[in-house]
Amino acid sequence: MIRRTALKPPSPAALLRWYDAHARDMPWRMKGGKRPNPYHELLSEFMLQQTQVATVIPYFHAFTKRWPTLMALAKASLDDVRHAWSGLGYYRRAKFLHQCVKAVVERHGGKIPQDEEALRALPGIGPYTAAAIAAIAFDKKAVVVDGNVERVMARVFAVEEKLPAAKKKLHELASSILPKNRFGDYAQAVMELGAMMCTPKNPQCTKCPWQNNCAAFAKGMAQAYPRKATKKVTPQKYSTAFITLNKKGEVLLRRRDEKGMLGGLWEFPGTPWETAKPSASALKRHAPVKLRWQTGKKPVSHVFSHFKLETALRIGHSAAAFFPDTKHNGEYRWMKWKDLSTLALPTLTLRIADAAKEYLEAKS
Ligand code: SF4
Repeated sequence: MIRRTALKPPSPAALLRWYDAHARDMPWRMKGGKRPNPYHELLSEFMLQQTQVATVIPYFHAFTKRWPTLMALAKASLDDVRHAWSGLGYYRRAKFLHQCVKAVVERHGGKIPQDEEALRALPGIGPYTAAAIAAIAFDKKAVVVDGNVERVMARVFAVEEKLPAAKKKLHELASSILPKNRFGDYAQAVMELGAMMCTPKNPQCTKCPWQNNCAAFAKGMAQAYPRKATKKVTPQKYSTAFITLNKKGEVLLRRRDEKGMLGGLWEFPGTPWETAKPSASALKRHAPVKLRWQTGKKPVSHVFSHFKLETALRIGHSAAAFFPDTKHNGEYRWMKWKDLSTLALPTLTLRIADAAKEYLEAKS
């Protein structure tokens, strides 16, 4: 059962007034009671997962210019979609987006379904995204809860239970204060409040439309919520990437397996990502060819959602454009540096490429 403080419950009307006056402009957002193009809403939801609005905007423009409709995106090749996604991170989203729009065409004749259940049955769409699309694109009554909304609810109701165990309770609280109409605007308004005002650090309580209804503010403890379980230490992993150059000035790339992290994207051949630095025998085993390898200046550090990776560089010059294993010819490719941008490269590969180029320029 949900326990309330003596404060009055927060007013959706007050929040909507604040939203109407202060909501940020976003290329996929419509204001004044208008609903956005459902394709734009779906696309933006895929792009915004784990990613800031400012980072997403140029990608959103590029995608909608190149693929103005859902049908057009469904007809694109996965490689083209991945390539356009390069640099946005969390690359499985590109594959899921492509699968999702294809499924919308196959199952729903190209029209994005309006109800949460049908949306949740599409590839790459979880409960949050289904609720967000139903509410924002179609003004359906749906409980839309992302990290911002969780923080706002935890503070307004001063929820003592710790995250992540508190998720269910925070969802119930969000559901308990839904308005009677304007579901899409309200969903965006709570998220906007969390993003702009009820921020993790230094919330601007004095300007907040829910200040008089907020239990955390009343206690003078806004920043102490949400309560969180002690964070686990992020594991550290290590690898070595081999930058193999041939006489034509090309560099050897390998395509990652479709299954697993960064599936289907291109990388420099290297050792597996492991918790210990690769041993001399592992380096020998995973080098694409026997060469005199030079060691790059400093490793490239990259943070993934659940571990950190430190990649050392080995750079070698080969006399020929060989392929490491004839069985896997299709998975390797020699490329000019300047042509790397034509491939779907994850940020990690781009950063390793930059470090390698810097090293080679300093040597030349
Ligand atoms: S009063 Fe402060 S803590 Fe409470 S919802 Fe508003 S910004 Fe967040």
